[in-house]
Amino acid sequence: MSNDSAEYKALVERWDGFLEKIKSRYTEVIDSSREPLKDMIGGLQYDSIVIHNALQGIKNQSVYQLDKKINESWEKMEGEMEKIGVMYDYIVPLRNKTEKTSRWMWDEFERFSITTFADAARQIEKNIRSVVDENVIHNCISCGSQLPVEVWAFQAVNVKCPNCGSVNTYEPDGRVRQLEGVYSAYADEFAMEERILKDKDNKNGAAYFKKYYGFIIEKLPQRKEYYERIMNDKLNNPDFVGK
Ligand SMILES: [Zn+2]
Repeated sequence: MSNDSAEYKALVERWDGFLEKIKSRYTEVIDSSREPLKDMIGGLQYDSIVIHNALQGIKNQSVYQLDKKINESWEKMEGEMEKIGVMYDYIVPLRNKTEKTSRWMWDEFERFSITTFADAARQIEKNIRSVVDENVIHNCISCGSQLPVEVWAFQAVNVKCPNCGSVNTYEPDGRVRQLEGVYSAYADEFAMEERILKDKDNKNGAAYFKKYYGFIIEKLPQRKEYYERIMNDKLNNPDFVGK
């Protein structure tokens, strides 16, 4: 049967309508989750585990369920087209359109998820900065004089007392360390499109890792060596960047 038969055209039209409905259903589920997520973010303290769990639930209700629906309906549609004798060449464009809709949904969800984690990180950073006292005085264990301490350090550091020369170990506030997670969420937001491309194909990994770690290194220069090492390990590993 040719592609200008009325029966074929009717099926195409029905299928286009179905895909449109899938897209609006997806948008509807995501939109209705925005307010509750915003409230949840407002109530965060120093980690975003509840956001992670909430996003899993939203993903089930949107991407997973709708993708399942697409696949089930496509099987039926293919059957109907075969029944009226539609040539394979006329089925292919419809299948491509279907895959495109599915990919659109997965990519959109990834953007939504990355942005939500970055919003959560902004709240967490605000919380951390409001509890860490930058002016707290650290005294030397030997002579009691004031030590020059970097409050925003991420690891224990040895600080030499300028007065008596004895070495003090400074252990940063545990909440300061959470800032690394905050910057990781910002880095993903910054390198979002590169990350989506990487998830499709490891070959795109290098561009993502360079942008992601480049961002963190710029924001946390005191951790430069550490993140450069991780980045270079990934850039040299085919499991992350393809062959
Ligand atoms: Zn001292």
